[in-house]
Amino acid sequence: MGNFETADVLVEGKKIVAVGPAVRADGADVIDARGRIVMPGFVDTHHHQFETALRSFLSNGLLTDDGSGSPSANPSYTDHVLQRFARVYRPQDVYINSLFAGLSQLDAGVTSVLDVSQIHHSPEHSDAAVQALIDAGRRAAFGYFEGDGRPSARYPQDARRLRNQWFSSDNQLVTMVMGGEVYLSEEMYTQSWRIARELGLPIAAHAVSGAGMRPILDDIARGTGGTGNDIGFGPDVLLIHMTGMSDLAWRRARDAGVRVSVAVPIEMTMRHGTPPLLTLQEMGMEPSLSSDVETTMAADAFTLMRSALTMQRMLVNQRVLDQGDYTPPTHWPTPAPGTPPLLNVRDVLRFATLNGARDLHLEHRTGSLTPGKEADIILLDTTALNVTPLNSAPGAVVSLMDRTNVETVIVAGKVRKWRGTLLDTDINRLRTELEKSRDHLFRAAGIRRDLFAYS
Ligand SMILES: [Zn+2]
Repeated sequence: MGNFETADVLVEGKKIVAVGPAVRADGADVIDARGRIVMPGFVDTHHHQFETALRSFLSNGLLTDDGSGSPSANPSYTDHVLQRFARVYRPQDVYINSLFAGLSQLDAGVTSVLDVSQIHHSPEHSDAAVQALIDAGRRAAFGYFEGDGRPSARYPQDARRLRNQWFSSDNQLVTMVMGGEVYLSEEMYTQSWRIARELGLPIAAHAVSGAGMRPILDDIARGTGGTGNDIGFGPDVLLIHMTGMSDLAWRRARDAGVRVSVAVPIEMTMRHGTPPLLTLQEMGMEPSLSSDVETTMAADAFTLMRSALTMQRMLVNQRVLDQGDYTPPTHWPTPAPGTPPLLNVRDVLRFATLNGARDLHLEHRTGSLTPGKEADIILLDTTALNVTPLNSAPGAVVSLMDRTNVETVIVAGKVRKWRGTLLDTDINRLRTELEKSRDHLFRAAGIRRDLFAYS
């Protein structure tokens, strides 16, 4: 619809019906949004919500112990979060962790998420994860991924039951995505990709060379993946990170319409590799943004947008400076032909909204303020101390704001946060339950709680 300095958004039931200056709507309730930026809610295309009780535990941690003996190598994500904590989750831990993550992101204006819930030790764990997404009251794709592989687990075949029991209608706030991790085994990912395609579910999978996935992704890129040599890319596939992938995998992914989610701050700090923002540009592709794990980094969209913007600009700016020789008159070169354009604030805003909706197959429902879409709307306070006076709307959101500026949040026409307060939620009670879950997880995993030991 374009951008308006002053305009109205008319919502009827779940849907946006009009956007523009001076919309007439006799008898409608009115939210006075003067001094506020009115924009679509943010979309996070990859968040491991079950890890909320472990927030900041792994602030320095790498993906895997690299043998260096440094505080970043131990504890590590593989050894501690996956091998130890994840194994002791009970269904009630899955529920409270995931619910709390959802409410926290809702409070920060993230109205849609893909919950990459790699915690499906049993059907009860799966049901708890779905229930938490429903109870959070925001738009979510339930990512049905693997658990720790214990005998009671029914991954991936329980997808059929989950689909029938929870996702029989396509017209609901919570939808389903099939986890298809290629690092499991060839048999396992063959099954999960086949089930996804049988059920018409989108597929999501991590793609990280440091975890040994590059040759497998090459195999799939050629269309000869899986035990039957018949698993290939398609527009139903979302690949997460895409760090260290081959040119072949990139070209085939682009040509097949694969979507890519980048978790820029996590990729930079946990050694996934350089976030592939320049490769995406070279390929003529655009990513969505994702928060990944709160064990290590905040899960708000402002952090994600600023990280993507500054990281890409650092690379391009240095490349331009290197085209001169640091001495007048060539100390400030004009970029040579072929230099990637700098990302700007509108680019990363699009990554965090419209591209996220596209990558979760929700672009007909959310991602922009467009008549016919559902009303996922946030109001951002431009009169606040850290923002005022307003001189650029996209600039203020991306370069100045943080979650404290998210004043009102609406999901599918329903107000979920109103003037700074989440509605219909007893945060004190939920915090106590989350702390109990945290205590259980540390005790059962045999990991000492120590506020200063892991940093
Ligand atoms: Zn992940």
